[in-house]
Amino acid sequence: MARYRGPRYGAALAAAASLTLAVGILAAVSPAIAATSTAAATSTAAATSTAGNCAAGAHTLAPPGSRLYPETGNGGYASLHTDVHLVYDATTNRFLPGNHVTLTDRATQCLTSFSLDFERRSVNTTAGPDMTVAWVQVNGRPASFTFAQPTYPGDPHGQNDPDPLAHQASEVNPVGGPHHNPLPPACTPELTSTKPATKESGNGTPCPANKLVITPATPLRGGSTFRVTVAYTGRPGVHNDGDGTTEGWFRSNQPEGDGGFVTTEPVGTEDWMPLNDYPSAKPTYDFYDTVNAGKTVLANGILEGTRRHPADARFPRGSVTWHWHSAAPVASYLVEDSVGSFDLTERTVSGMPFYQAQASSLSAAQKAKNLAIMDKQPDITRFESMFSGPFPFTSDGVAVGRPSASFEEEMQTMITFAGGTIDTDTLYHENMHQWWGDHVTEAGYTMTFYKEGLATLAEFLFAARKAQGKAGGPGTAARRRAFQNSLVASFASFYASKDGFWTVAPSNPTAWGLFSGSSTYDRPGIAYIALRQILGHANFTRALEQLQREYGGGSITEPQLEAGFARWLPTRSAACRQRLGQFFTEWSDTAYPRGGGAARPQLTGPGLAGPGFYGGGCTR
Ligand SMILES: [Zn+2]
Repeated sequence: MARYRGPRYGAALAAAASLTLAVGILAAVSPAIAATSTAAATSTAAATSTAGNCAAGAHTLAPPGSRLYPETGNGGYASLHTDVHLVYDATTNRFLPGNHVTLTDRATQCLTSFSLDFERRSVNTTAGPDMTVAWVQVNGRPASFTFAQPTYPGDPHGQNDPDPLAHQASEVNPVGGPHHNPLPPACTPELTSTKPATKESGNGTPCPANKLVITPATPLRGGSTFRVTVAYTGRPGVHNDGDGTTEGWFRSNQPEGDGGFVTTEPVGTEDWMPLNDYPSAKPTYDFYDTVNAGKTVLANGILEGTRRHPADARFPRGSVTWHWHSAAPVASYLVEDSVGSFDLTERTVSGMPFYQAQASSLSAAQKAKNLAIMDKQPDITRFESMFSGPFPFTSDGVAVGRPSASFEEEMQTMITFAGGTIDTDTLYHENMHQWWGDHVTEAGYTMTFYKEGLATLAEFLFAARKAQGKAGGPGTAARRRAFQNSLVASFASFYASKDGFWTVAPSNPTAWGLFSGSSTYDRPGIAYIALRQILGHANFTRALEQLQREYGGGSITEPQLEAGFARWLPTRSAACRQRLGQFFTEWSDTAYPRGGGAARPQLTGPGLAGPGFYGGGCTR
């Protein structure tokens, strides 16, 4: 998603320096080790199930020591497919009786119980959710359910640890807080303000009971596929994040009673539907949403059709069911499902549909302005595919909504723009995410920098494309030089950054700085420019294309990403591989003291500012 540019942006960067101390403990848990331990845990669980021992599924997918949304995700099963059946009254902003979701999952162990993420109510009493679960069924049979607090990942006393300290929120690890809690956080605080002074205010508070724990009538055999249906009603809403911004289901009231606008990174989907709320959980989707006649539903994938219904008790003026289908898996935070009065058109370019949706209440002049930019999406897609490989989905699209959400977001095949406007630079950013984040998803929140860096690279590539357009005729050497010079200049300007630019390791952010800091956007963005110089331009593109083929439809870890680039080193000697490893450590995993100069990555790339890359036994 596009970075948060609210009033505290500068302050957040300055405040980031003080966080580096707390990073020390976590640095020991490298993503490589975390990935290994997860795999080990999975195989242990599998062994247990074959021995006939059934157990509760894990209430988190986050690795031990996590301080970024450790409450999210659920283990013991894989998410395969989700049928969404919203029954939504736009005038009252309520889900009505009949509203339900059916999730198809496959047990990866014998399960006595399993969990979903669902925030029925939050500290945000005005825009937050207020929903009630009516009933739950597993494989068509009634199942019992309860709501539980999350426990910190890896708690040796189990996920029902009686110690209240095992269930507390914090931005940092350990929790600290008023009770000096020495344990890791069980959740990220839901802050109601973006003011830096409030950053630590949620530390040590109890985590909300957002784990929907479901116990089927009989245990679910390991390897079996099962269907869980959750019926619920009430008002969907927004989630307050660890940086005080909101995401989720935004009430659209322009005009009054318009509907809801969905933009949900990183965890807000659970504020309108129960799900396995973790980026690497990627089921496919069908949406069968029934809404007031005259309203439009915007969701992921392809619009299969609509069906009208006569007036009934729920919809006195009639209703319509919209069916959208996504054959491609969708990560938890990229599920789109907005409802409202939209002008929706479909434009087919080179055989692929591009959906264009705008809030109907926008002025004709604003719509025309927006449409001129939306019309660029096929060309932007073609341009970005020159670097990332073939476009990974069967449709693409943009939805411009009225509510002033804090962010634009790369919802899969339906990019959301808030506040009624769209801009070209951000469209390059969000459209690049369709490959990076959407098709190849980060394995966990600490990998956010990986996909935001590539989306930021798309902004640098757009600037280079504009420079190229101003220089010489098509295909000339002058044009190629202008393109390259622009990227070199982008690198140089950010590499010269001082102050707090280098003080947070991109792979170890806090929730507070996750979507505003240079560690998520500009630093990884220019690291990719350096990588392109190190590998060579053709090899860099081949590396990206191969990553798409290997990890598309799933997710990627930091070691997998680094190995994917290492394969395309022009010289694959031990010395060069070692040097590339050092490059990634400096750019992705190192928190430097404030400043610049020696307090920043020392390996750059050929032709760029800084010491370069080749040398020390590694030659091209
Ligand atoms: Zn982004």
